[in-house]
Amino acid sequence: MKEKNVNVLETAQKQVKQACDKLATDPAVYEILKNSMRTLEVSIPVRMDDGSVKSFIGYRAQHNDAIGPFKGGVRFHQNVNMDEVKALATWMTFKCGVMGVPYGGGKGGVIVDPFQLSEGEMERLARGYARAVAPIVGEKIDIPAPDVGTNGQLMAWMVDEHHKTTGKFEPGAYTGKPVSFYGSLARTEATGYGIANIAKNAAEKLGMDISKSTIALQGFGNVGSFTAKYIDELGGKIVAVADHTAGLYNSQGFDIPALAEYAREHRCIKGFTGYESEFPKEEIITYDVDILLPCALENVITVNNANDIKAKLITEGANGPTTIEADEILNKRGILVVPDILANAGGVTVSYFEWVQNLMRYSWTFDEVQQKQEDSMLKAFNDIWNLKEEHGVSMRMAAYMMAIKRVADAMKLRGWY
Ligand code: GLU
Repeated sequence: MKEKNVNVLETAQKQVKQACDKLATDPAVYEILKNSMRTLEVSIPVRMDDGSVKSFIGYRAQHNDAIGPFKGGVRFHQNVNMDEVKALATWMTFKCGVMGVPYGGGKGGVIVDPFQLSEGEMERLARGYARAVAPIVGEKIDIPAPDVGTNGQLMAWMVDEHHKTTGKFEPGAYTGKPVSFYGSLARTEATGYGIANIAKNAAEKLGMDISKSTIALQGFGNVGSFTAKYIDELGGKIVAVADHTAGLYNSQGFDIPALAEYAREHRCIKGFTGYESEFPKEEIITYDVDILLPCALENVITVNNANDIKAKLITEGANGPTTIEADEILNKRGILVVPDILANAGGVTVSYFEWVQNLMRYSWTFDEVQQKQEDSMLKAFNDIWNLKEEHGVSMRMAAYMMAIKRVADAMKLRGWY
C-alpha cells in the first residue's frame, strides 16, 4: 500500500473529528473547529544582497481564539504552504488546550529556504513578515514564536518592526526572544526538555528505564539538539541520529555535547566524525532501538514504514510526524505513541511563561521556569494517561478529548453555538 502526498490539514481535521465523535459533542463543535477562523496570505518584497528584489509568500492562520489570543510559531521552510500552516494552527489550539495555557492556536510560515539567505536578507524578510502581519498580531491578539527555520534573533527583529509599524512597543507580541531582549530563561531549551521528560515518564509506564534504553533521534535543530542534551543527562543512550544531511550510528551512544557543538557551528550533523557507520537518513524511523524520537517534520511515519518500526515507544517531538493510517498501525501493534500536542508542548508552555513575564515586566530564574514547565507537563501527562486508561483509547485520542472539551466548553460559554 502506498500513502502518497498526505495532506496534513486533512490529518488534523480527522484527528479532531474522531475525538469529537468519541466525546459525542454537539455537531457545531466540529463544524467550527474544522476550519481556521482567519487566514492571511501576504507577499513580502525583499531587497536581496545583489540589489534585486525578490517576493516571498507568507501566511498566518488563526485557528481558534475561544480560550485566548492565537498563539504559535512562524516557520521558514521551502515546503511551507497554506494547508500546512492551517494544520499547524489547528494543532496549536489543542496543544494549548492540553496544557491549559490561556491561548488559542495560530501558525505562520514563509516559503523560503533559510539556508540560501544571508543574515541581512533574513533580517529584511523577518521585518517584512512582521510588517505584513502587524494588523492581526499583538500581545493580546495573536502571538507568534519561533518554529522550524526561525529563532530568537528573528523574533527580536519582528518585535522591533511591529513597534515601528504599529507605534506600540509590545515585547509580548512575539515569544521565544533572546534572553537579553525580553526573552525567558529556559525557553530555548523548553521543547527539548519537555520531550526528554515526557519520554522518560512514558518509558516508566511501559516498565522501561530510560537510562537503560537505546534511542533513535530524527532532527538536530533547536528541538532535536536540546532533546538529545536532556536525554543524555537522563542517561539515555542515543545510538542513531539523522537530520536533513545524514544518518549516523554509534553503538556506544553519541558524545552529545560534542555533536551539539558541531551541529551549532555547521547547522547540520554531516561531517561529524564521532560515529561508527552511516545509513540512509530516512531509515532512522525503523532503526532497531527501544525509543524513537521524531523531532523534525511532518509525515515521516507512514503506512510505508509503520509496520517495520522496532521501537516500543515513540515520543513525537515534531508536529504531525505520524499519518492517520500509520497511527492506526502503531496502535494495533501496541507501540505507545505520545502525541505531538503533549510531547512538544514545552515550547508553547514556556512561551506562555515568557509572555506572562513580559506583561508583568518581571523575570523568573532558570530553575523557576523549568520547574513550572516540568510540573505542568507532568500533570498533563498524567491526566491524559488516566483518560486513556479510563476510555481504552490511544494517548493521542485522550489528548484530543481533553483539549476539545476545554475549547468546546469555552465556545459554549461564549455563545458560539
Ligand atoms: N513553534 C512551537 C510549536 O510548534 C512553539 C510555539 C510557541 O511557542 O508559541 O509548538
